[in-house]
Parts: sequence; structure tokens; C-alpha cells
Amino acid sequence: MQKLELISLQKRYGDTLALKRADVTAKAGEVVAICGENGAGKSTLMSLLAGSRQPTAGEIKIDGKPVAIDSPHTAFDLGIRTVYQELSLLPDVSVAENLYLGELPTTRFGTIDWVRLHREASEHLEDLGLTGIDVRKMTGSYPVAIQQMIEIARAIQFEPKLLILDEPTGVLTQTESDLLFKQIDRLRDQGTIIFYISHRLEEVLELADRLIVLKDGETVDQFFRGDCSKDR
Ligand code: ADP
Ligand code: ADP
Repeated sequence: MQKLELISLQKRYGDTLALKRADVTAKAGEVVAICGENGAGKSTLMSLLAGSRQPTAGEIKIDGKPVAIDSPHTAFDLGIRTVYQELSLLPDVSVAENLYLGELPTTRFGTIDWVRLHREASEHLEDLGLTGIDVRKMTGSYPVAIQQMIEIARAIQFEPKLLILDEPTGVLTQTESDLLFKQIDRLRDQGTIIFYISHRLEEVLELADRLIVLKDGETVDQFFRGDCSKDR
């Protein structure tokens, strides 16, 4: 995905115009921060990209071509991954199974290859700097901060094209937040577009290439990295 365009996107829920008009362009490797007060339409905008809701009007284009993200499944196939504030992993299922997004690996006897599943899951977590996690244990047995990191790990495996992070650091400690920021830098280098919703100004200033302000359902301002710097 080289270019993502949201053109005059609108979303109405009954009488409520949750999103009046959103215009956003993002290029490969950009971190786009979305800021705005509660009720500004941030979640609604993201739900249109995640395929969980459909726009009332407007258009989404990927690499210049209009796309209909008509279901979460379509979003998934387009390489769009989302991490929400709320934990969405199954607590009573092992970490390894929660991490796995595709078909479970099977042995030559046709049964699930648990050894391989556990090894690959452990390796993926270690690549992210998450050490000491027993992937055979129930996900719910870990602290919420670790669960959130597992969720992030799940979203970023297999190199997403578009990653949506909605207040991802809310339950993280500084240590895990730093691991996340490292991954964001890595993903940005390989061309993933990242939408980052946060009300933590210091994070936004540190990470964002582009800052979009939503107000009453409209994108009112866009800032680019460098706008505020006298050196550039
Ligand atoms: P934000 O994420 O910025 O807090 P939301 O996208 O959640 O904003 O909400 C934007 C507006 O749309 C708010 O007025 C909210 O109450 C309304 N809204 C959001 N979801 C629904 C829904 N499912 N039904 C009706 N109104 C909704
Ligand atoms: P966030 O904390 O991300 O801004 P919200 O609190 O705005 O999320 O919304 C949480 C959920 O509740 C969303 O799925 C949203 O669509 C729904 N929602 C928000 N406002 C309303 C509303 N007025 N009527 C119905 N559903 C709503």
C-alpha cells in the first residue's frame, strides 16, 4: 500500500452525524496521529477502515483505486490490522493460539503441530523484546500490559500494510511502551502506514509524521513533521 486516501468520508448513525467529513491522505511509512476530543469521531473513522462499519458517503482509495472495505474480513485481506484500547484476546486460550492468525500448523499426521506453534509464537514474542512468556499458558494469566503487548504482537506479525492503534499505551508501562515504539519505527521503515490515536501529546510529537485534528466529525487541521521546526 503506497497511498491511502480517505475522501470526504461521512458516517451517520440514525440522527447522529458521527463523522461529517474526513479527508486524510497517508503514504507508505507514515505515522499519522489522529487527535480530537471525546466524541470527535476518531473511533468512527477507524471503524470505517477496519471494515466494522460502512461509510454513509465518501470514498476510500488505496493506491488510487476505490475500495469497499465491506467487512472486517475484507480489511484483514487488505492487510489492515487494528489494536483497540480494550483487550480482545481470548483469556482462556493459550498465548500461542491467540497469536496465531492463520491456519494452525499441522504435523504429517494431520494433527496440530503444537511444537512448531509454540516455537514460532515464542520466537515472535522474543523478536519484539518480550521475554519470559510461556506461550502455553492461558493468556488471561498475564497482566493486562503483557496481554496488550501480545495483542500488538498478533497485529504486527506478517507485516501489516495498515496498522491502526487506538490509545495503545493506555495500559502499558514505560518498558512496554518503548518496545512498541521500537516496532513502530521498524514498521515505518518497511512501509507500513500507521494510524495512531492518542491524547498523549508527548507520544504524538515523538512519533507522528502527520498530525490530523478531528473536531465535531471534521478533519480541521493537518500538521506535518517539520512544520513546527525552524531548522527545516
Ligand atoms: P471518538 O472516538 O472521537 O470519541 P466516536 O467516533 O466514538 O468519537 O463518536 C463520534 C460521535 O458519534 C459521538 O457523538 C458519539 O456519541 C456518536 N456515536 C458513536 N458511535 C455511535 C453509535 N453506534 N450510535 C450512535 N451514535 C454513535
Ligand atoms: P472511544 O473511547 O474509543 O472514544 P467511545 O466511548 O466513543 O470509544 O465508543 C465506544 C463504543 O460505543 C463504540 O463502539 C461506539 O460506536 C459506541 N458508541 C459511542 N457513542 C454511542 C452512542 N451515542 N450510541 C450508541 N453507541 C455509541
